Amino acid sequence: MKCSEVGVTCLDDPELLKAYVSDASPLRGEVPKAAFFPIDATEVAKVLKWANKEKIAVYPFAGGTSLVGSPLPSEGVVMDLILMDYLEVFPKDKLALVGSGWKPSELNSELREYGLWFPIDPGSYDIATIGGMIATNAGGIRAVKYGVTADRVRALEFVTPTGEIVWSGAWSKKSSTWIRLHQLLVGSEGQFGVVTKALLELERLPEKAEVLMIETNLEEVGDLVLKLMEFEPSAVEFMDETTVEAVNHHPSAPFKLEGNSILLVEFDDERASEKAESIEMELNATRGEPEKLWKYRKLAGQALTYKYGKRADWDVAVPLSELSPALKFVKDRLEEGAVFGHFGDGNMHINYLGKSVEEVIEDAKELVCEMVKRFKATVSGEHGIGLLKLPMLKCEVSDEAIEVWRKLKLALDPNLILNPGKKIPL
Ligand SMILES: Cc1cc2nc3c(=O)[nH]c(=O)nc-3n(C[C@H](O)[C@H](O)[C@H](O)COP(=O)(O)OP(=O)(O)OC[C@H]3O[C@@H](n4cnc5c(N)ncnc54)[C@H](O)[C@@H]3O)c2cc1C
Repeated sequence: MKCSEVGVTCLDDPELLKAYVSDASPLRGEVPKAAFFPIDATEVAKVLKWANKEKIAVYPFAGGTSLVGSPLPSEGVVMDLILMDYLEVFPKDKLALVGSGWKPSELNSELREYGLWFPIDPGSYDIATIGGMIATNAGGIRAVKYGVTADRVRALEFVTPTGEIVWSGAWSKKSSTWIRLHQLLVGSEGQFGVVTKALLELERLPEKAEVLMIETNLEEVGDLVLKLMEFEPSAVEFMDETTVEAVNHHPSAPFKLEGNSILLVEFDDERASEKAESIEMELNATRGEPEKLWKYRKLAGQALTYKYGKRADWDVAVPLSELSPALKFVKDRLEEGAVFGHFGDGNMHINYLGKSVEEVIEDAKELVCEMVKRFKATVSGEHGIGLLKLPMLKCEVSDEAIEVWRKLKLALDPNLILNPGKKIPL
């Protein structure tokens, strides 16, 4: 096969293609036969039409920050989407039409001149892409106020697995016209199409944010989160003692803390100062510099890997009323581990430390499945299923629902070209 015959920029040097065998998960893919670099929907369609004719699998790959192996290739070719850089801003409507290759940090630099902001803020803010975030329905630290990626997608341009270019969704806030195909793509991990442009709902850039730190522990934190939610925060993040210790030891840590578990809470509305004062008095919180505190928090996963070498992270989420009992359950079950996460959304990252995924997968499956039963948990709050979490999918999703997913997949992708083997057991 000569990839240059397809008519889209590509590379087929096996040495360079090795870059695609890993994402941010502990899993490894195979070296693909080629990587294509489309710049717009027409080029994406060209690759997909060719792949259907040749019966070659295509793996959409963007920032490569998946924690569950979602973009990893096994045979076939990669479609690298980082060159999809279209951008048009509609300031009066607080909307932007954004190519899927933009990183949220870069997008926000462009939006600053309009006083606007895309508020979804994952730990991978500087390295993930908008397309990848749509495909995984990414969350992050501000979902508690601004929602997850799905809540920001008003419409999409995408290419179906067989190569048709589709626009789905209205420009207006309201519309009962559309069957919301665009939302079908959100969280589908590249199963139903390749996102090329997204019409995203933006926010006014907040003028000022107050961030406070509260010392706590795993027993009390669930009730504390419920109390804090009454103040309508823009972020409520937790780090347990083990995580705090690990961040203290990381060379990039902006400061060191005593080593107790902490909650970080942010307010970014016009009553932020007033709310911060109340929290200081009522809950013994202390104010800090927002940038430094968020840098400290965002080092959590990286610092645990740095200190313990191996780490396996399960990003379960529960309804807030179940947070306290769910945490007690995790604490009793987890021998060597750490917990941090977006507690304002009931989303906890349960980390097994010093062990490989293979060593903990059975135990993790039991733990997560038990949490689904007892605490109405979801298997993945924000990272997706990919390959890593396929073994535990059926704890939450019924055979009947999976059968509907399969039928949809086969209807849209009869040759199973697009990212096969991920998310949907076939
Ligand atoms: C340090 C770190 C911190 C993180 N923190 C968070 C966090 O706080 N919250 C959170 O939600 N996640 C987090 N993640 C996980 C990860 O960043 C997200 O899953 C992110 O959305 C993946 O985006 P990506 O561009 O890297 O996509 P990739 O990893 O390249 O791909 C992810 C999936 O999207 C598909 N895909 C990519 N682009 C497209 C497209 N244009 N059309 C269709 N399918 C596509 C791929 O095929 C794959 O299935 C973190 C990861 C790291 C490494």
